[in-house]
Amino acid sequence: MKLPAVRPEVAALPAYQPVQPLHVRARQLGLRPADLVKLDANENPYGPLPAVRQALAGLEGLHIYPDPARRRLRAALAAWLDVPAERILAGAGADELIDLTLRLLLPPGEAALTCPPTFSMYAFGARLNGGRVVAVPRRADFSLDLDGIRRAVAREKPRLLFLASPNNPDGGLLSQAELDALLDLPLYLVLDEAYVEFAPAGSSRARQVLQRPNLIVLRTFSKWGGLAGLRVGYGLFPSALMPHLWKLKPPYNLNAAAETAALVTLQRLDEQRRRTEAILAERERLSAALRAFPWLHPLPSQANFILCRVSGRRAADLYRQLMARGILIRYFNKPGLRDAIRISVGRPEDTDRLLQALEDIARQPAPRQGERP
Ligand SMILES: *Cc1c(COP(=O)(O)O)cnc(C)c1O
Repeated sequence: MKLPAVRPEVAALPAYQPVQPLHVRARQLGLRPADLVKLDANENPYGPLPAVRQALAGLEGLHIYPDPARRRLRAALAAWLDVPAERILAGAGADELIDLTLRLLLPPGEAALTCPPTFSMYAFGARLNGGRVVAVPRRADFSLDLDGIRRAVAREKPRLLFLASPNNPDGGLLSQAELDALLDLPLYLVLDEAYVEFAPAGSSRARQVLQRPNLIVLRTFSKWGGLAGLRVGYGLFPSALMPHLWKLKPPYNLNAAAETAALVTLQRLDEQRRRTEAILAERERLSAALRAFPWLHPLPSQANFILCRVSGRRAADLYRQLMARGILIRYFNKPGLRDAIRISVGRPEDTDRLLQALEDIARQPAPRQGERP
């Protein structure tokens, strides 16, 4: 019996490569998970607030389906962001909102525009939805090629443009002038603010969805909120899109624990802000310390990670040498991102372990080409 084939756009797609779970890495390295320093996925090392843990431990009504409209969470977000709740849709992480946005706005065969190096889920999601991906690479300093974007828009008529601000992996912000210029283009601009809570106050463009019919802003509790494991994100959308998004959204996409955790975090923003500030202070300390290694060239970042260009050594070697010492980071070696590492900002003790390991590595001769450290 010959069964029907899976959808060709899915069959043709290489699998997304997420970071390895901690217990898997620990087993590979022969270490305990607690001995690893996880600086590879931009998570908040402080985790959820104590009040969040308490609320989760006492959570009632777990046998009942959660409110599909998320009224309480959306009301709390509306009050915080000063945007009507009618413009807010919550989801299982910003990742789900990227997918819902693509399912709504990208018909098969049509184009979505991305500006790499950037978060890879935009291109992955667009392909998964049967769309074409048109890439307009950033310049060597990670700034946008606005003329290149305008030419690509004229040529390919993309339905959407995805931009992260701060951008992952470099940590740079999109300027208001750039945003204004891009919003004049005949497409939907999806502005991913997954890290905006780490940027200077006033960096978010969330409220501009009220003036701009083609602006979508995505946010998440995964990074600043310390809730990556619970999956809570949300999007701010033009009002014309909202009725359709409600149809697309799985009714119970966000689970009850995730909603409670997000709500309690919003009730304690001062406490959460202090943690964010600890991470920002550590970012400055880490950046200065990294600059002391002549082969590391950290870029200024407005997020909770630091991208470093590596010279005179291979980023892949450094990645493996750090991993052998229990320190997990990301490395890149692809067009636009040759020999670079990205280090998430951790707690002071995480920075100490990383610096110790780097000093240890600095004392050893650089591995020869092809040799495994
Ligand atoms: C981590 C990340 C996300 C994913 O957020 P979730 O809410 O955990 O799905 C989205 N965008 C960027 C740029 C990220 O780095």
